[in-house]
Order: sequence, then C-alpha cells, then structure tokens
Amino acid sequence: MGLVYKIDCLNCDASYIGQTKRHLDTRLKEHRDDIKKHFSNHSVVSKHRLTKEHDFDWDNKNILHYEPNNRKREIAEMFFIKKSPNTINLKRDTENLSEIYDVIVENT
Ligand SMILES: [Zn+2]
Repeated sequence: MGLVYKIDCLNCDASYIGQTKRHLDTRLKEHRDDIKKHFSNHSVVSKHRLTKEHDFDWDNKNILHYEPNNRKREIAEMFFIKKSPNTINLKRDTENLSEIYDVIVENT
C-alpha cells in the first residue's frame, strides 16, 4: 500500500493533497476528526473548514497515485501539490522538492 490522495472542498475550489502508507479511510478519518482538537493544533484542513465555514467531500476519494516506496511517494505528493493551483497545503510541504522537478511540473 501507499498512495497520494486529494480531498476537495465542497464549497470552493480548494483542495488538499496528502500521502499515506496506511488505508486511505484511516487517514481521512484523522483529517475529519482533527477539528475536534484544540484550535492551536488544527491542521490546514480544519482551519479551512472553520475559518471559511466550508466542508470537504469526504466520500469522494481521489487517489492520484499508488507508490509503496516512502521516499518516492513523498516526491510524488510534492509533485502533485506543485501541479495543483488551489491546494491549501503549506509551502513547506513542497520545499524539499528539488528545483529539477520545477521544470517537469511546468511542462506536464
Ligand atoms: Zn473551501
């Protein structure tokens, strides 16, 4: 197992891209339940839900890529984040992606 996924906001164009080596349902439940934590520990997904009063399409599972190798999967995740214009992912999610990939992202 191991995959890169995307969840879309139901109320705007925003989306979140992540990766997990576990079951996608397990990871999505964590995203969903994150909102129950103290606000100082909220994820970008919970912040989007609360500040905009939006919610995500939890049932529509967009699997972008399967990759069992951890390092390759992390690179694939960063690649998809860079390619997607409306992600709410933090900048630091992609800062480890080598500049070499910028050329590829721009040309695909
Ligand atoms: Zn939204």
